[in-house]
Amino acid sequence: MVYSGDAEKARKEAEAFKICGCGEKNPKFSAGNGIWFCENCLKSRKEQFDKYLEKFLVLAEEYDLYNEASIGLAERSEWKIRLLK
Ligand SMILES: [Zn+2]
Repeated sequence: MVYSGDAEKARKEAEAFKICGCGEKNPKFSAGNGIWFCENCLKSRKEQFDKYLEKFLVLAEEYDLYNEASIGLAERSEWKIRLLK
């Protein structure tokens, strides 16, 4: 039988046992939920995150353009097309 006190103890032990995914002991950076990153992994994660964020911003830009300006853009293109004709 597991008592809540035991679970709490186990959680604290897991928290005290810090190890990065790469095997680095005593990593400096916590991602929460008992997940830890050493400096090297944090840097590589940050690079991944930046790349992802870049992609996201491009997508967000396209998304905004599509949502906010699509009608205006379509109207303008139509207008241009009419002028060209
Ligand atoms: Zn690491």
